[in-house]
Amino acid sequence: MMKTSKLTLLVFAMFVTFGLQAQQKIALVIHGGAGTIKKENMSDEREKAYEEKLTEALNAGYAILEDGGSSLEAIQEAIMIMENSELFNAGKGAVFTNEEKNELDAAVMTGKDRNAGAIAGVTNVKNPILAAIAVMNNSPHVMMAGGGAEQFAEEQGLEIVAPSYFYTEDRHKQIERLKNTEKQKLDHDGAQGTNNAQRFYDEKFGTVGAVAVDKEGNITAGTSTGGMTNKRYGRVGDVPIIGSGTYADNETCGVSATGHGEYFIRSVVAYDIAALMKYKGMSLEDAANEVVNNKLKAMGGDGGVIALDKQGNITMPFNTSGMYRGYIKEKGKPFVGIYQD
Ligand code: ASP
Repeated sequence: MMKTSKLTLLVFAMFVTFGLQAQQKIALVIHGGAGTIKKENMSDEREKAYEEKLTEALNAGYAILEDGGSSLEAIQEAIMIMENSELFNAGKGAVFTNEEKNELDAAVMTGKDRNAGAIAGVTNVKNPILAAIAVMNNSPHVMMAGGGAEQFAEEQGLEIVAPSYFYTEDRHKQIERLKNTEKQKLDHDGAQGTNNAQRFYDEKFGTVGAVAVDKEGNITAGTSTGGMTNKRYGRVGDVPIIGSGTYADNETCGVSATGHGEYFIRSVVAYDIAALMKYKGMSLEDAANEVVNNKLKAMGGDGGVIALDKQGNITMPFNTSGMYRGYIKEKGKPFVGIYQD
């Protein structure tokens, strides 16, 4: 009699354990930057190119999660696909600094242990997200910058490219236009210059990011960027600042941000979302909305975030006219969006 009830208990415990595991939902959400992205300024061809690249990144990352891979592997894959595309302001398509160079920032954080890695201002690492992951996994540090980060990346066997690898015609035209309009503004016509400068300023965001939750319920967030067009040498944005542009904690959420980095640093955006959930008991959606559409907007901070929690809930608020974004939830089809609904 005693033996039977013990056996029943064991079977029940196994049922609960496996049942719970089976319930763990996998999900992946990505962004390719926020900003003044309007349908009337977009050709059908370009729109299609963005949609296809976002879908490719989503499918590749999601396939890893479905195969039982980790959320770290999934976000790495999705981000590398976007870094290797000229369409986004990260890796290959990075924007130019005021000195017409490319200085790249990236970060990663794993929610299981709140481990993190980041690099800032590198000029020759083909895939900055890999360097951030190497800092997290293979060094005692969280952030490395400039020449030291580049040397570390090389020692780690990562692909090093000539800085000219990051030259793209579109981005170069963008910096020339911006520099010219700023000159105009200083030299002559304030009104016209202001409008033009504003227009190009608005086009500046284009960072990429990904957040995933895997079959183990572990969340990872990663972000990679060329920063902001026309930034001064040595300027570092929110992306590699843990808690500002990137954050992950299994107990709350994972967040990757895009927008005017200075405001995201001052608002500690990604951590603020997690903190509202943790200390105020807010839902993922309410917390992200509060930060992006109320707190950040009130300060004048343009941009948005992607975020997900352990239950596979996803939110993607932005306070600009558009944000390249997409997600796949368990067994679902990829959703990809560009403009406000
Ligand atoms: N947040 C990035 C930065 O300020 C720019 C972006 O999101 O595109 O460096």
